Amino acid sequence: MSESTPASNPEQPKTLRTSGSVAMDDYLEQILLLIEDNDENYARPVDVSRKLGISQASVTKMLKRLTTEDLVNHEKYGGTTLTEKGHTIAHAIVERHKTLTQFLRLFNINEQTIYKDVEGIEHHVSKATLNVITSLVAELEDNPVLLERIKKRI
Ligand code: MN
Repeated sequence: MSESTPASNPEQPKTLRTSGSVAMDDYLEQILLLIEDNDENYARPVDVSRKLGISQASVTKMLKRLTTEDLVNHEKYGGTTLTEKGHTIAHAIVERHKTLTQFLRLFNINEQTIYKDVEGIEHHVSKATLNVITSLVAELEDNPVLLERIKKRI
């Protein structure tokens, strides 16, 4: 299914799973991770810039766009917080990242490759496919014999 999937599709309420833009999703993901790391409950633009490896000027520009899209709020003290809509999307991306990472870690793939692959897949994987992967992770973690058999085939 492509981006043209109607928003009315009950299986995939698209608006809650993605902002519709890979770049914006990457920002929302990093902002949530920074907020979770920060006792003050906001993300500093300078940290967003560092985490994404993007210039501060570009970060400023994107934060404005995210504000316009009602995904983040700029607070007076210079911190960035997520709106409810932004948080829902960010949370969904972080969950997809965790599940996909858990899955690939079962197979001795190096961490750098896992990270790179997950950063791509997390933007496009459907809810149906993610459910399959979640079930596979649970089964394979409970069944090391099967896991070893699969690994030998790779
Ligand atoms: Mn990610």
